[in-house]
Amino acid sequence: MIPMLDLQAQYWALADELNAAVQRTMAAGQYILGPEVKKLEADIARYCGTRFAVGVNSGTDALYLALRALEIGPGDEVITTPFTFIATTEAIGAVGATPVFVDIDPHTFNLDVAQVEAKITPQTRALLPVHLYGQTCEMDSLVAIARRHGLRIVEDCAQAIGASWRGQAAGALGDIGCFSFFPSKNLGCYGDGGMAVTSDPVLAERIEILRRHGGKKKYHHTELGVNSRLDELQAAILNVKFPHLDAWNAARRERARTYNQLLAGSGIACPGELADSECVYHQYTVRVPDRERVQAELKAAGVASMVYYPIPLHLQEVHRNLGYGAGDFPVAEQAAREVLSLPIYPEISFDEQSLVAQALIAAVRQPLAV
Ligand SMILES: *Cc1c(COP(=O)(O)O)cnc(C)c1O
Repeated sequence: MIPMLDLQAQYWALADELNAAVQRTMAAGQYILGPEVKKLEADIARYCGTRFAVGVNSGTDALYLALRALEIGPGDEVITTPFTFIATTEAIGAVGATPVFVDIDPHTFNLDVAQVEAKITPQTRALLPVHLYGQTCEMDSLVAIARRHGLRIVEDCAQAIGASWRGQAAGALGDIGCFSFFPSKNLGCYGDGGMAVTSDPVLAERIEILRRHGGKKKYHHTELGVNSRLDELQAAILNVKFPHLDAWNAARRERARTYNQLLAGSGIACPGELADSECVYHQYTVRVPDRERVQAELKAAGVASMVYYPIPLHLQEVHRNLGYGAGDFPVAEQAAREVLSLPIYPEISFDEQSLVAQALIAAVRQPLAV
């Protein structure tokens, strides 16, 4: 079976260094917010071109703490996309605010910036773009809208570490950028982990305080925070992996080009890349008709595939209280019916990609006889 990704291949390639880093950290005896976390924070801030980075325990918490730092809460609205992972709206809900959805662009699957302004109300406080599948949103227009209306921008960069918009890193394009180090992300640890980046010292300090029980000084609590720190052990692992991130992302881009070539002329809709955006292909996502059958045929041919995401958030049961219904965001709904993500990871070989492409083309062309 050709898997969606091969995390063990990445482990074995770096096993000696990773094992040594974990052992060194265990022996060093400082397990919470030690030198490994500090080093990673400094490296990620430099990488993104932001002044600060704060390690937290997941991408979801990075989003939650970003919204808390901006003092967004009950009565406030946050504009976002319905075509994303639930963590995006979970964070909005967790601070007591209300997500307001905008439909997506059919080519990039990211929120359609042209539709944002119509959704702004006196309650709107922030825009929360998600750089889905590794590609940034159209950020110039979004930043202009935010400026015009006095709104903040929190970027969900969970799938887009290393991506950029006109040469500027994802995460540095708004007020706060939120990353995830979940194992399957482009830079993943061996558990949960996340990070928030910002160039605003006030916001950085707010997140710093909130992640450690709402207190700058131990046992002196100024507000109710949470326990959300990036583990020292996970940071040690990430410090070994981080120097390889650019090469891994370059390999992903190369693999994406290979799929584009292998699928050219097949009629299968390949992912669209904006001219100003450098995508890091967290996923390589095509659209196919009759998806369930195509997926079954791929599986029969030994090819894994996944659907990100089968139900847009406005149609999720948990969000029924928001009052949306089928037909409200037709582009997102169509994407949810048609998208199929193919195996993509730095270690996938050309032969494996050829097999994936052949199996996909055969499945789309020849319906199974029933
Ligand atoms: C993975 C992901 C998250 C959440 O990150 P965790 O570290 O798993 O909490 C948030 N948003 C998107 C778009 C994601 O893909």
